[in-house]
Amino acid sequence: MTRPTPGAGRFAPSPSADLHIGNLRTAVLAWLFARSTDRRFLIRVEDLDDRTHDDVARRQLDDLAAIGITWDDEPQWQSRQRQRYDAVVDGLAERGLVYECYCSRKDILSAPRAPHAPEGAYPGTCRELGAVERAARREAGRPPALRLRTDTGEYTVTDLVHGSYTGVVDDFVLRRGDGVPAYNLAVVVDDAHSGIDQVVRGDDLLASSPRQAYLAGLLGYPQPVYAHVPLVLNAEGKRLAKRDGAVTLAELGVPRAFSLITESLGWPSADTAALLQRFDPAELPREPWMYQLV
Ligand code: GLU
Repeated sequence: MTRPTPGAGRFAPSPSADLHIGNLRTAVLAWLFARSTDRRFLIRVEDLDDRTHDDVARRQLDDLAAIGITWDDEPQWQSRQRQRYDAVVDGLAERGLVYECYCSRKDILSAPRAPHAPEGAYPGTCRELGAVERAARREAGRPPALRLRTDTGEYTVTDLVHGSYTGVVDDFVLRRGDGVPAYNLAVVVDDAHSGIDQVVRGDDLLASSPRQAYLAGLLGYPQPVYAHVPLVLNAEGKRLAKRDGAVTLAELGVPRAFSLITESLGWPSADTAALLQRFDPAELPREPWMYQLV
């Protein structure tokens, strides 16, 4: 009898800076959610924007290992998968689901919006342009971005922390004007490609999940289950950043960082194996962790 392939969870850092204690806490939680449900755990380096930051990415991997996170398979590097994303965009374009957009960020922010549309949601300016108009725009300006032609205003996902969550699905970008695949596209394609069926990440990305799940549906991919976990905030109540100081493993040392993380979760433990024994998603703190070194 063949056993069904187990699903997988993942952590997907962008190599823009060393991981800080908030990123590490999210990584530990993603690992706990996956391992406590007998899933595999994978790491993906989201370096489409930061391709030159290999050294940062390698330090991030070292830090994840040092804090006791284990993973299966070699980490994936998004910058090495460009053809994969291009093929998916081509397939969507063949289905008539892609259009060129000539708008700048400023154009989008200043365009009239539907009454409940959040700031930055695409108002559809370039959606119905005719061929002549498109040719003129292409001639006049920068290379266009490619957007997905969506047919829903919103979409609902299941989140293990937030329950049923409904959010906006606008005609979001698939490929930027500079040719770089957009975050929402790359995440969906890579998660499906790696058999990831559980997405645990910071709750700053909760609002992106309806777009991503909608796109997964369009592509015939299974929908992952989500868990958007509370972020870590600095003393001013703002999202923690490296510049806050005393936040990286190099600054804190592994034992200190690990005990700060496990205490903030309410599960003080000696190591990740002990932590896994104590992990209970129902007890996960729902409030952001106010990080302050005492
Ligand atoms: N690379 C993203 C970040 O570092 C996370 C993407 C994701 O987990 O979907 O914020």
